[in-house]
Amino acid sequence: MVIKSLNKDDNNKKIIAGLDELRSSLSSYCVDVCKSQCCKKGKLLLLNSGEVNLISEGKKDELLLSKTLVKSESDNIHFDFSKNKNSCTKLCLDGLCLVYGNKNRPKVCSDYPLFKVKEFVMAADSCRAVREGVLDIKLNEFCKKYNLKLI
Ligand code: SF4
Ligand code: SF4
Repeated sequence: MVIKSLNKDDNNKKIIAGLDELRSSLSSYCVDVCKSQCCKKGKLLLLNSGEVNLISEGKKDELLLSKTLVKSESDNIHFDFSKNKNSCTKLCLDGLCLVYGNKNRPKVCSDYPLFKVKEFVMAADSCRAVREGVLDIKLNEFCKKYNLKLI
């Protein structure tokens, strides 16, 4: 039925917007308390050439040679922060992301630390705010409202 699928689309839009709002609610915690650790530690998954070009600043070949960009067996490319003085190339000194509104900003940056897969919401344990329960109350209310399972 057309009406049913419209309702489903509408619900999905509300879920996407709600998750964005939850992520945004962390912004001062990220900068002031956590000091943008997820832009400094580990490896950043890059899903397409737009993301690779943006983060590698056009130096893909050079960064592959120095192993700052690493290709996995499944052909995914990761940027290794440890090979770039423990920082993303787009992290400002004030802890903010220089490419926040850019269409090629890595998708994982936009989704982190809350990932929606079907009817599940996964909260990444690697995130300090998640580990410390900063989002717990709001996130539980959100999942209950939209009948999502929090894992
Ligand atoms: S790890 Fe979590 S709390 Fe820390 S900056 Fe990233 S999203 Fe924010
Ligand atoms: S692109 Fe922005 S949000 Fe993503 S790791 Fe780099 S500085 Fe952080």
